[in-house]
This record gives sequence, structure tokens and C-alpha cells, in this order.
Amino acid sequence: MSDRPVRVRFAPSPTGPLHIGGVRTALYNYLFAKKHNGTFILRIEDTDQNRYVPGAEEYIIEALRWCGIQIEEGVSVGGPHAPYRQSERKAMYRQYAEKLVELGHAYYAFDTTEELDAMRKRLEAAKVAAPQYNAVTRSTMKNSLTLSEDEVKKLMESGAHYVIRMKIPRNEEIRFHDVIRGWVVVHTQSLDDKVLFKSDGMPTYHLANVVDDYLMKITHVIRGEEWLPSAPLHVLLYRAMGWEAVMPEFAHLPLLLRPDGNGKLSKRDGDRLGFPVFPLDWKDPATGEQSSGYRERGYFQDAVVNLLAFLGWNPGTTQELFSMEELITAFSLDRVSKHGAKFDPDKAKWYNQQYLRKKTDTELAALFLPTVKEKGVHVSLTTENYVERVCALIKEKAHFVSEFWDLGSFFFFAPEKYDESVIVKKWKDGAPEFFAKVKDVFANTTDFSAHNVEAVFKKTAEESGVAPGSVMQLFRVIVTGLTVGPILFDTISVLGKDEVVKRLEKALTTLK
Ligand code: GLU
Repeated sequence: MSDRPVRVRFAPSPTGPLHIGGVRTALYNYLFAKKHNGTFILRIEDTDQNRYVPGAEEYIIEALRWCGIQIEEGVSVGGPHAPYRQSERKAMYRQYAEKLVELGHAYYAFDTTEELDAMRKRLEAAKVAAPQYNAVTRSTMKNSLTLSEDEVKKLMESGAHYVIRMKIPRNEEIRFHDVIRGWVVVHTQSLDDKVLFKSDGMPTYHLANVVDDYLMKITHVIRGEEWLPSAPLHVLLYRAMGWEAVMPEFAHLPLLLRPDGNGKLSKRDGDRLGFPVFPLDWKDPATGEQSSGYRERGYFQDAVVNLLAFLGWNPGTTQELFSMEELITAFSLDRVSKHGAKFDPDKAKWYNQQYLRKKTDTELAALFLPTVKEKGVHVSLTTENYVERVCALIKEKAHFVSEFWDLGSFFFFAPEKYDESVIVKKWKDGAPEFFAKVKDVFANTTDFSAHNVEAVFKKTAEESGVAPGSVMQLFRVIVTGLTVGPILFDTISVLGKDEVVKRLEKALTTLK
């Protein structure tokens, strides 16, 4: 690593909601920066005005905030290289494109759309596999390499539309080192003369991206694998500009794949396969289409950070749970895999469950209380203390706080109906008499701790000649309506004497 202070940037284009793959890119950049006492920068790459989507930039900023990724420099916070939105830096780029023309690394091209189409058709007819504007075809087109200086001048003065194209060397091997992939070698024959500067006065992604990385003193470009094919052009740009000595190191992150490993995890996969692929909910401003996000689905922010960190990276140990601080310490690009990372929805839930279990009952109660109140529960059951005790019992089975109500609504409302199969099988042969006795004994029990209630119940069973095991399931159904749930005597203790006696009475009067 060079001795320049580490500076990395996350450089999304505001073309829609940020995909979790994008959040992972931001996270790896952030972890890397923090690990090396460097700076994490947010730059908005909005040079393609046709693809601009209102609200996307705010969404990106909010998603990073939610994940705890702090923007140290960039849009929304400013910094020494402001502005950080490329559309606001527009005036800056032309000089670099012009400089490349001057140095003989780029040229003006005046071809119209029709002329470009005709060229493509001509090449297709000649069975050229990948028809493109390149070192061979450029000599047949209308550009400053084929036209005389005079003609170029005249065209420009007449206001003809033109672009500036990179003059890719004809026969060269470009070698560059990628931290994750090792040496990458690309022959320039496979590259086309990419447009660097458009007729609307805007740079293309390639020019703006490289110029800004240079001006913002970026030391490491950590981005998705889909940008690997652009890297050779970027390397050529650094060379052509004479900036090779400060060229950043490249690290292209593996793709996020569908759960079955079959292709890239796309925007559409999430809702189709039943899990979010976005950090936050998003409503498309043009179509009104809704996409769900991790936050609104009830995922904890620290769980999402942890699970994203593991999509393409591992610490080389068996430890799976990492806080942001621990990730910063453990993270290294050496341990990022070059193979695509399969997204596993069950593992995502597992992570959330682990973080749910780490929360205190007080924290969980605060999260659950709004639901409890919404359900119209009696106020006496909405005290923090009661809800906390309920949370303590139901959390074990839950992946999300949103499951708490289904797991524990019987703590707030007496059962309206009882599990039929158990009643049919067990509410006979002295069972009603036995539970009538239990009710009377409970009514006279003052210590309603789980431990004592259990002892009292067992003693009553013994005295009645009933094996406690044979009536436990029925007892659970009488109290909760259900056959499964938290430990029964804990449940009974939390419900409290009055409520349990009431529920026994109700069963005795309604069950036949
Ligand atoms: N604007 C590009 C994107 O949307 C940035 C790629 C890069 O990091 O160079 O992902």
C-alpha cells in the first residue's frame, strides 16, 4: 500500500433505490477506510441526466445513515473537494477532455446517429463479431483524425454536434493489479473508443469518474465487479493524463448472486422470492411501484450490516457475529472472495434472530409496545414491566419483533377458542373435575412465582391421582388456546393469579 492517506469513495448514480449490493460496496469502502484511519467519501455520479430519478440521492444518504456508515466528506456534509455531485462539477471536466485531445490520446468525432448506425450495419454485414468504434473503424468515420484541421475548425464553428472519444492504442496489452483478482491483463483490441465527453457538454461516467478520483486524491477504488470491464480504460486514462504515479489501487468486489446461485441478484428478485433486496422501502416516483426494504421488514440495522459484511468476505475464523467496530478491526480486502456470493434469505433471518436475542427485554418491550397498544389491549397490560416479562418468554422463537404478537397475543387476550384436537382427546375422564380443583387451589395460592405454581400444580395432581404429564398439554390449551408456546409455568406466572383463575373458570363453563 502506498503511503498516501487512505481515501475511498462510494460513487453511486442516483438512478433508483440503492440495491443491497450497493450498500455492501459502501460498507466495504467504509470498513477499509476506518481500518486504515482513512476517509470515506460519498460522491454522486449524476452525469447521465436521462437516468436521474428524484429521491434516489436522499434514499442513498438515508440508507447509509441507517446502516451506521458515516459520510466524512461528500454530498450532504461537504468537504475540501466540494461539490461532490458531478452535475455541479460539470464545468471542470471539459478541460481534461481537451487536454487529452491535445496530447493525442483523444479526438473529436462528428458522426451523426445515422452514420453510427450505418457503420454498425456495415460491420454486421461483414460478419464482424463485435461492431464498434475502435482503432480500425475510426479511420472510416468523421472525426478529427480523418478530417483536416480546417474541416474540423469549420464544423466546430458551424455548431455541429461532436463528442470526444478516447483513442485506444491499437495493439497493446494493459496490465493492472486488482487487490482481489490479482493481475488482470486485457488486450486493447477488445476495447472501443469510448466517448469521454458528450455533445450536451457533460462528461461520461468514465471521464468524470477518473478525473474526480484524481482530484479527490482517492487511493483505493473499491467497487462492484460490473465495473471491471471499465478498469482497463480507466488505467489508460491515468496513463494518458500523466497521473499513473497516483493511480488508485483497484478492488472489484464479487457479485451478489440469487439464492440458487443462478445469476445476479436483481432488483426484481427480492419481492418475487420473498426477501428484500433494498435497505429501505422505496416507491418508484414514476410508476408508483413499491419495493420493500430491510428496515421496514423489521430487520435490525446491526444485523443487516453483519450479514452484508459476510456476503463476499469472511474473517477466516468461525466467528459470525460482528459489530461494526469488530468488523473494522477484522476487515481486510485480502479476505474478500473473487467468487460470486450467494444470497441466503434464511441466513439473513438467522442474523436478525441473533441480534434480537442480544437485545435486552427492555429494548424489545419498547419495540413491541406500539403493536400491543394498536391491538386495543387493556391499559393494565401495557405497562413496561408486563410487556418486558412477556418479551422475555416469547423472544426465543422469534426472528423479528413483528412476530411477537402472533407468538404471544394470549398474554393480552384470553383465548376465544381452544385447540380442538386436544379438547376432543383430553377434556374427559375426570379432567373437568381436576381443573376445577386446580382453579380452587390457585385461587388460594399467594406465591404465584413459576416455581411455586409448578409445585402447587404437581401436588394437586398427585392428590387427585393424576400424572402431571398427562394433563400438561390440556392445561396449556386452557390457558393459551394453543398447543405450543413458552414454558407453561413461566407463562402462568406472568399472566398472574387472577387472570389464570379466570381462564380456568371460562374453560370450565364453555367446554363441554
Ligand atoms: N457511478 C458508478 C455506479 O453507479 C460508480 C462505479 C465506480 O465506483 O467507479 O456504481
